[in-house]
Amino acid sequence: MINETYKSMLGAKSVIRELSEYATARGKEIGYENVFDFSLGNPSVEVPREFTDEMIRLLQEEDTMTLHGYTPSLGNAMYKEAIARSLNERFGMNYGPEHIFPTTGAAGAISHAVREVTKPGDEVLAFAPYFPEYGPYITGAGCELRVVPADMSSFQINFEALSEMISDKVMAVLVNTPNNPSGIAYNTQTLEKLSSILKEKSAEYGHTIFLLSDEPYREIVFEGADAPYVSRFYDNTLSCYSFSKSLSLPGERIGYVAVNPACEGADVIVPMCGQISRGTGHNCPPSIIQQAVAKVCGMTADLSVYETNMNIIYDTLMDLGFTVVKPGGTFYIMPKALEESAVEFCRKAKNYDLIFVPADGFGAPGYFRMAYCIDTEKVERAMVKLRQFVQEVYR
Ligand code: PLP
Repeated sequence: MINETYKSMLGAKSVIRELSEYATARGKEIGYENVFDFSLGNPSVEVPREFTDEMIRLLQEEDTMTLHGYTPSLGNAMYKEAIARSLNERFGMNYGPEHIFPTTGAAGAISHAVREVTKPGDEVLAFAPYFPEYGPYITGAGCELRVVPADMSSFQINFEALSEMISDKVMAVLVNTPNNPSGIAYNTQTLEKLSSILKEKSAEYGHTIFLLSDEPYREIVFEGADAPYVSRFYDNTLSCYSFSKSLSLPGERIGYVAVNPACEGADVIVPMCGQISRGTGHNCPPSIIQQAVAKVCGMTADLSVYETNMNIIYDTLMDLGFTVVKPGGTFYIMPKALEESAVEFCRKAKNYDLIFVPADGFGAPGYFRMAYCIDTEKVERAMVKLRQFVQEVYR
């Protein structure tokens, strides 16, 4: 008999994918330049030239057996060393290569990290608004995802709700900063308080509550934002990173888990990741990508367009009277819809070829997400449409 659990998941089509498909179809009708597609979080800036050059060099110069051979099951040594060095230099950490496990993006990193610190039946807490794929990452490990309601005024952590929801069954707390979909970055004060609650609750329940820090947007931080490195605040942290956004490489599926050297089990967590990969068959990102990223892991694509776009959109939204918290990073913003149902709001916006995503699926009903990883010229034209839409429909 085929597996009913996965079969039942087939009906749940992603709203984001559906909207993006709609945008593509609409583009064929009226010209893609006339569709203002804010649905997908696909980076819109060029991959750094250094990455491409290194790929070419590897293909031209390296021995093909080594280049295309199996990597060690715990990852390419050069990749692990380069990441550890880069994190230590930038964030004052003391990782060694033995603390770094290469994964297929942040998705692979989170899936490994959850399995590292839970057993089936345990609970993992995440904070609204949250990335909907946390559902399958966590239930896929046999655990239950429980969502801590948001502090809607700031989208920082709602600590009262967190304290109430931590029970003996909670083995890990998953945070995402800067955040998809709100764009908010957790500041120093938030991370200090989170750390002190996790320490207190770990002591109360007699077991470590691990912090899983999902950080694909770590390098997309805007001027003035206080967005410190999460692992510095709490030893029992597994950082889950991806080069999808910082190097514009989402299709290459490359990231890592970085285990804080002071974390409980730090000496065995990476080897355990190797065992988890054996079970899921999801082992070892491609050899050539690990080698190329090792050369450029301290740099980023030119990410400045995201801040330019954010400022244009934020100013327009404020001018139009939207309730919105200014993002500290990412390429997302999450305003409150101008009517109770964000689904209705987004449906009406579609009539103006503005493609927004209702944030209901992110745990923030009544809000909508705009992914502004598109050209600035298009953002500017979209703001004219947005004004027209608001004036004609809501004034
Ligand atoms: N976590 C968040 C918050 C994301 O937005 C994404 C991708 O958009 C991921 C994890 C998965 O990242 P990757 O595609 O690198 O696996």
